[in-house]
Amino acid sequence: MKSEVVYDFIIIGSGMGGLSTACILAKEGFSILVLEKNHQLGGNLQVFSREKRIFDTGVHYVGSLDEGGNLYHYFKYLEILDNLKLKRLNQECFDLIIFPDGSKIPYAQGYEQFINTLIQFFPEEENAILTFCKKIKEICLFFPFYNLEIESSQNYFSNQEILEINAAEYIQSLTSNIRLQNVLAGNNLLYAGVKDKTPLYVLALILNSNLTGSYRFVDGSSQVAKELAKVIRKYGGKILKHQEVISANYSEKGFLTNVNCSSGKTFSAKNFISNLHPTLTIDIFGENRFLSAYVKRIKNLANTQSCFLVQLTLKEKSVKYFNYNLYPYFVDDVWESVNYSGKDWPLSLYISASVSSKNKEYIDVLTIMAYMSFEEVEKWSKSKNLAFDKKDRGQEYQEFKEIKEQQVLKKVIQILPEIKDNILNIYSATPLTFRDYVGTSNGSCYGILKNSNFPTSTMINSKTKIPNLFLTGQNLIFHGILGTCVGAFVTAFHFVDSKLLIQKIKNSTVDEKTEL
Ligand SMILES: Cc1cc2nc3c(=O)[nH]c(=O)nc-3n(C[C@H](O)[C@H](O)[C@H](O)COP(=O)(O)OP(=O)(O)OC[C@H]3O[C@@H](n4cnc5c(N)ncnc54)[C@H](O)[C@@H]3O)c2cc1C
Repeated sequence: MKSEVVYDFIIIGSGMGGLSTACILAKEGFSILVLEKNHQLGGNLQVFSREKRIFDTGVHYVGSLDEGGNLYHYFKYLEILDNLKLKRLNQECFDLIIFPDGSKIPYAQGYEQFINTLIQFFPEEENAILTFCKKIKEICLFFPFYNLEIESSQNYFSNQEILEINAAEYIQSLTSNIRLQNVLAGNNLLYAGVKDKTPLYVLALILNSNLTGSYRFVDGSSQVAKELAKVIRKYGGKILKHQEVISANYSEKGFLTNVNCSSGKTFSAKNFISNLHPTLTIDIFGENRFLSAYVKRIKNLANTQSCFLVQLTLKEKSVKYFNYNLYPYFVDDVWESVNYSGKDWPLSLYISASVSSKNKEYIDVLTIMAYMSFEEVEKWSKSKNLAFDKKDRGQEYQEFKEIKEQQVLKKVIQILPEIKDNILNIYSATPLTFRDYVGTSNGSCYGILKNSNFPTSTMINSKTKIPNLFLTGQNLIFHGILGTCVGAFVTAFHFVDSKLLIQKIKNSTVDEKTEL
């Protein structure tokens, strides 16, 4: 069935990247259609509900949301900030790094407090801590859009050596204090860091953002997707769910004309923007339409590690809510936990309590994330399971999940013994769940693994060889809500005057300031 309407843009995928790109273009006057394969919008912003409680599947906290922060500005321009229900994490500790010997080192918000807290724990290392923070700020200046700037002589395009600094090596060069080295990379589950590959810029962009206003979403992160969808519709955009794009048609001149969905429907547009992983994009749009060197490069790039997500419901009013994230390690070197092997799994965890408007004092749902490689679930990879198309992966898979849940639980109880007698139910998701619900390659958490050894190959251009096909999403510049948001603006700059757009973003908070 062919649609009569020819949209200015069809956006494929409604992750943060797809929705924010659609929102910008709809606001700037273009006609937009978003096609999403799932029942729920948002990709990693999806939530599910059990026992009248809300479970986040991906996003648990975001940074840069204090007034004046980059995400604060972007969300203001996107017209969603004022409607979001947010809870700021503790000023004196938003992340707590926990080592196998029981030592606990807090990350405080704001550079000054972050530095002073670390100096209390490492009084001999003041210079190393100050140099580290100076470097983090300096690196961020090389990312103009991250700083809401267009023209800057200091940028990573013309200073690519900035991308080649390896995070672990740089930290080691600052101090011989092994504990401090581990503390400075202590929340590397946020980027699935790999010691000899992860560039310092990835750590810098994320840490700088978290130091400038870290917040949780009250009642789940799906509100971001819902609010973006409202704004897209307000500006005339259309969003269709249950539309999985499977192939495309071209004009004789090689321009994309329309996309075909598994529903049998076909949709036409002048331009197309894919929010999917580049490998998936190549498969859908046809390998022969891209340069073979590009296809080879993209298909050979490693993806970030996947994870096993355990979510616990706790007895009512049993365990007090804690307003920070825990990063416990069961191995001394924090970089080792990603490439785990053998029986001691998991070697690290991310633990977070969700915030519920109904229950502010106690924990409703506790989320625990542990690295898990796709190979562990590969034997069930032919099965597909979605909320609207439930398929059983079989008894053996259930047993595998239960064993893994217990292994995780054992380690969580070491850290939070108070939960032991208060667990109501356990839910878990494997790399297969992430693959099926979001469409990321092998369930990878954050898409393509950035690599300081060949950094530019692991940053993906938003333009493609197909003249009217563009990319958006976590694989462009960096991942996360902020990374995909910055990427969305970079994609939009192909169609909207970048200087004017940046000015509009900056102006979006002006009225409010004048009122004050
Ligand atoms: C466990 C986990 C925890 C995380 N925690 C955080 C956090 O706390 N803070 C943070 O900032 N970031 C976090 N992230 C990272 C963040 O969620 C992602 O970087 C970001 O959401 C990715 O957005 P995206 O736009 O690239 O697309 P995705 O979220 O990957 O969405 C892609 C969309 O495309 C759709 N799609 C796929 N194939 C098709 C098709 N053929 N046709 C139509 N639609 C299709 C999918 O259904 C999906 O909706 C986390 C990620 C994971 C996995």
